Amino acid sequence: MTDIPDRPAIRTLIDVDPAKAQQVAVLRAQAASDPESFWLDQARRIEWATFPTTASNATFDGDVSIRWFEDGVLNASVSCLDRHLSTRGDEAALIWQADDTAVSRTLTFRDLHAEVCRLANALRSLGVKRGDRVAIHLPMVVEGIASMLACARIGAVHVVLFGGFSPEGIAERLIDSGAVTVITCDTSRRGAKRIQHKTSIDAALKQAGTICSVRNIIVVTVTGDTIPMTEGRDHRYDVLVPQQSPACEPEKMRAEDILFLLYTSGSTGKPKAMVHTTGGYMVWAACTTDWALSLKPQDVHWCTADIAWITGHTYVVYGPFATGATTVIYEGMLGWPQPGRWWEIIDRYQVACLYTAPTAIRALIREGDAVPERYSLASLRRLACAGEPISPDAWEWFYNVVGHQRCPVADMWWQTETGGGMLCLIPDAQPMKPGWATTPLPGLNAVLTTEKGETIPDGPAEGALCFTTSWPGQARTIWDDHKRFRETCFTFSPGKYFAGDGARRDENGYYMITGRMDDVINVSGHRIGTAEIEDAVATCHAISEAAAVGINHDLKGQGIVVFVVARSSKTAPSVALLSGIIADRVGRYAAPELIYIVSDIPKTRSGKIVRRVLRKIASGETENLGDLSSLADPAVVPALIKAVTEQN
Ligand code: ATP
Ligand code: MG
Repeated sequence: MTDIPDRPAIRTLIDVDPAKAQQVAVLRAQAASDPESFWLDQARRIEWATFPTTASNATFDGDVSIRWFEDGVLNASVSCLDRHLSTRGDEAALIWQADDTAVSRTLTFRDLHAEVCRLANALRSLGVKRGDRVAIHLPMVVEGIASMLACARIGAVHVVLFGGFSPEGIAERLIDSGAVTVITCDTSRRGAKRIQHKTSIDAALKQAGTICSVRNIIVVTVTGDTIPMTEGRDHRYDVLVPQQSPACEPEKMRAEDILFLLYTSGSTGKPKAMVHTTGGYMVWAACTTDWALSLKPQDVHWCTADIAWITGHTYVVYGPFATGATTVIYEGMLGWPQPGRWWEIIDRYQVACLYTAPTAIRALIREGDAVPERYSLASLRRLACAGEPISPDAWEWFYNVVGHQRCPVADMWWQTETGGGMLCLIPDAQPMKPGWATTPLPGLNAVLTTEKGETIPDGPAEGALCFTTSWPGQARTIWDDHKRFRETCFTFSPGKYFAGDGARRDENGYYMITGRMDDVINVSGHRIGTAEIEDAVATCHAISEAAAVGINHDLKGQGIVVFVVARSSKTAPSVALLSGIIADRVGRYAAPELIYIVSDIPKTRSGKIVRRVLRKIASGETENLGDLSSLADPAVVPALIKAVTEQN
């Protein structure tokens, strides 16, 4: 391990509420002394047709088997909708803001319940049965959310696919998941552009040919653009759904019946479909929404994630609806048609909780502080972010400029595999520390291990992040590939769940994520996480984004290459300046071999930097760049190769 450079200290910033801190201490103590009763208590957060008598039945040894609340019976849509009808039936459940500023739609819990039931009946009328997979390929519209809950209602397994996937990406996932029905739309808007949904699905089905089991396509009208329809297979949502009954008996699901499959972001390789089951996932969504966001039924909550990602599943749909809060969804893009669009939405709907991703925060910073300063933002009470490490500088900006030093910032570390937040601040109960994902949530047992998988004793350390026990929201397996699940997550340190990320722990037990273990750079025996170098570069205000990778080096083992995006081409800092900042902040050993100033960095469709592609480009291996299907904009790659060649 390397000498640990100075990091920002814990800053209390917002007063800790002693009563809240005490409450959390009691929870943690109960979780440690009597986990079974702790988890059964947590299970009461959701509605059950039959309450479970046992909590955990999980082992990370041998073949790995994870089961929770096994004899419980429930339906996830009941916790999200039916249970609120008597208390909040006429209150807003879902607010949809269209791309067009003048267009929006508000559905009460009663409205949403009726829409979900109609769609559930429509799916049944097409022969969709319990356990069947239904792919959802929609932009951020009401029907996307209704589709997820309608599947849950009839016990079908939803598989939400990102709207922008290419036909190849869709075909691969339709075949892998064995979907029988697809819910899509004509086209969708992305700024001034149109995204082809229906024609992409048609092309995907053609490519997939006879191995694909899709029998029906339901087509939502989003833009009204003309699209081809195939008689007998394709059905208009507007025709099929309104004629159905607004009542639909929820299917009684066992806790371990599958609620959804979801493909990971594809940052490190070929995406895999994680399997999430009903009871445990719902309990964990409800727990973490309460602990990390402290959401209340009267709150307006806006999580900016697309429903195609786990953040969209847990913190747009299941967590907030289980709480009975009002959820905002926005069809459009950040900064479109004007840079203050997000802030305008917050003021318009009096959003109390804003949950977003570091990639969006970096883009907002780039617009300048004058933009958010034009808005009140006085309704905000809580801020949260997840998806990538947030640099302390971006954290401070979020806290100061957006939260007006009034809103706690929850930096939530988690994964598609974990179902819900794992390391996170519990607002008001703990002091904050900029750039640190804080502590494991109650009931979790996190450890750091060496590279060999040996547990490092408590106290300040750096290592691989693992969990020694299961939690209800944990993915049960990878769809159709239990072997891959076991090998990637449970063999690194036998008997533990290995997250694949590196972390540092301080003397207070706070954790910061240093980057992915696969991306750790080893320079002359110094192991350096990518986040350390990137955080250092982020302190240079002329830079809006940075990504560090390691390349082979004859003497040092590995050398560091950094790709940086300047805020403006006129103010691009010199390579010498950046090199100096890294040497000062991280250490002389971390001085990069090369720094490339580029106009864009490859990202996944969920907005994460894809370092594996950068590593290949930096090493000159541009012939075989690996799986690019998860990239948001594959055109970034040739532009990057050109920029690198020119600067060499
Ligand atoms: P794949 O598994 O296909 O490579 P992915 O890991 O990007 O893709 P997700 O499950 O969407 O897919 O992302 C989880 C990962 O995102 C985490 O393992 C971690 O690397 C990163 N991450 C998420 N939240 C945070 C956070 N708050 N701080 C640091 N890193 C985070
Ligand atoms: Mg991952």
